[in-house]
Amino acid sequence: MDNSTENPYQTAKGRIKSAVEELGMSPDVYERLKMPDIIVEASVCVEMDSGKLKAFRAYRSQHNNALGPYKGGIRFSPDVDADEVKALSMWMTLKCAVAGVPLGGGKGGIACDPSVMSKRELESLSRGYIRRMECVIGEKMDIPAPDVNTNPQIMAWMMDEYQVVGGGSYQPRVVTGKPLQLGGIEGRLDATARGGCYAVREAAKVVGLDTGGASVAIQGFGNAGRYAAILSEELLGAKIVAVSDSRGAVYNEDGLHARSLAGHKERTGIVSDYKGGTEIGREELLQLPVDVLYPSAMGNAITGRNAPDVEAKIICELANGPVTAEADTVLEEKGVLVLPDLLANCGGVIVSYFEWLQNDWSWEETARHLDRKITEAFLRLHDYGSRHPGVTMRQAAYMHAIERLVEAMRLRGWGDF
Ligand code: GLU
Repeated sequence: MDNSTENPYQTAKGRIKSAVEELGMSPDVYERLKMPDIIVEASVCVEMDSGKLKAFRAYRSQHNNALGPYKGGIRFSPDVDADEVKALSMWMTLKCAVAGVPLGGGKGGIACDPSVMSKRELESLSRGYIRRMECVIGEKMDIPAPDVNTNPQIMAWMMDEYQVVGGGSYQPRVVTGKPLQLGGIEGRLDATARGGCYAVREAAKVVGLDTGGASVAIQGFGNAGRYAAILSEELLGAKIVAVSDSRGAVYNEDGLHARSLAGHKERTGIVSDYKGGTEIGREELLQLPVDVLYPSAMGNAITGRNAPDVEAKIICELANGPVTAEADTVLEEKGVLVLPDLLANCGGVIVSYFEWLQNDWSWEETARHLDRKITEAFLRLHDYGSRHPGVTMRQAAYMHAIERLVEAMRLRGWGDF
């Protein structure tokens, strides 16, 4: 970690505070939103394949449920801590408000390194998490979903364990992002990236950029980044010039072939030695003069230190919190259009909402409804920005979301905000 890395909880609180002030609202609004309603910290013990017992720190943060039940993913990552989970749950509250879905904000995580765990250990960890959190989650209370390093298989184990501890009653709506065979929805897997591509398409119209042939760099090649590469190419006609993962990066100014690169990553686990391009540094990728940059890995990727070197025209935040507050100021001065995470990656939770409603749609129908929701959300924020000159798209997202939340909290009688 370098010095410019920010604590995400402080960043989230700071952004909410400025939005409340900018809106001229009562400080009570900030008081109501500055902490999660509930945060559970637990220990989940797993008998490892070695025969030894290992205790993992696990969290579930429930920020606000004025608009609907708490909703948000569970991540498995060594960096997970209470502040990260709190910030992520706050962003979920605001994201659902921006997306226009009647859900609140929650987030969970387990501090672990899934890359060194066996399938059996991961299953035991996932089931243990549900046994600990069973008292706070529920289909109308708090609905988990996948996030960093979690996937439909993990959701299946979690759904099953919830049924076991719940005396056998079938409750598929307790998690979303499930496998198709278990009540999942077509189109959930690529929903985050697809939503980001729709947002880029709309932003490109506004700034007069032709996405056909536009150059794209993608930081991170997990679920979000991989589909962002494929869909930018196939949906937007863009040219993927660089891709990175946690171990390296690959570049080709004439374009990498997204599907073949995805196949290579699947087989070998790395992108940097892909034959269709040359290896570059991971930091170098962030400095390429591209039309669109998708930070699709972890938080704090673009900081006050490296933001001055960013040459992208549009940044589409597929990750949560990839641009620090300090970097925001630098990018604004440089005239970079940042599509904030609250909008750019809300496709995931939108399609989770469709799944939660138990819609039986083809992927085309899911994609069409997702397109409508994202386009409307983009236009609302863009319009908000036009009515409030000098307000960035991120500030517009916070302000608009807080207005929606305050309305809901007022109607519920939570305060005279
Ligand atoms: N983990 C995703 C996010 O950060 C999706 C959450 C969900 O589907 O509930 O938005």
